[in-house]
Amino acid sequence: MRILITEDEKDLADALARGLRQQGYAADIASDGEEAMMMTEVNNYDLIILDLNLPKIDGVEVCQRIRAAGSPVGILMLTARSSLDDRVNGLDQGADDYLVKPFHFPELLARVRAILRREGETRDPILRIGDLVLDPNAIKGYYRGSEIVFTTKEFAILEYLMRNAGRVISQEELLEHVWNEDANMFTQTVKVHIKNIRSKLNTAGAGDLISTVKGRGYLL
Ligand code: CA
Repeated sequence: MRILITEDEKDLADALARGLRQQGYAADIASDGEEAMMMTEVNNYDLIILDLNLPKIDGVEVCQRIRAAGSPVGILMLTARSSLDDRVNGLDQGADDYLVKPFHFPELLARVRAILRREGETRDPILRIGDLVLDPNAIKGYYRGSEIVFTTKEFAILEYLMRNAGRVISQEELLEHVWNEDANMFTQTVKVHIKNIRSKLNTAGAGDLISTVKGRGYLL
């Protein structure tokens, strides 16, 4: 899952990006509202963390513009303002949730997960397909109760495929949702990761859960 952090306090933005990447999310940073608008036009984000007080274009307006463009992307607003009006205004403009600064990182993570769940079909925090189970909170995967140890990137790919099970996912779409802007993006990288995931699934006895649809991508 790919997240855009829109935050002009550099230290906070960097800390959030680091924390989110450790959890297997791809995270990009926009340091003002204008940059955020540009990046959301170019990239396909699963969630936007949006500070309310931003240079150039204010967070509420960024939110308005994203919604006006018809995007359903999840938006978590950050606000230093604790006034009720500001929070209500943010939610009315289409934010899914808000967090008042200062906050603890685990709370931000929990809200990010809740919004991502809302986007999917299910509100169950655990992803299951047959006997394959992924727990995004713990970043752990299981097959018939035995743990399969995935790297965070492998986990992120499998999580994306599971959230989109039944739909063919191209390598480009995976690059778009699982890697951030700084990554050297080669479809070969996706192939290598898919190969490793397949081999781990096979070793665990799960068989060939991921099929290749020639010329189009992968299907779980
Ligand atoms: Ca700010």
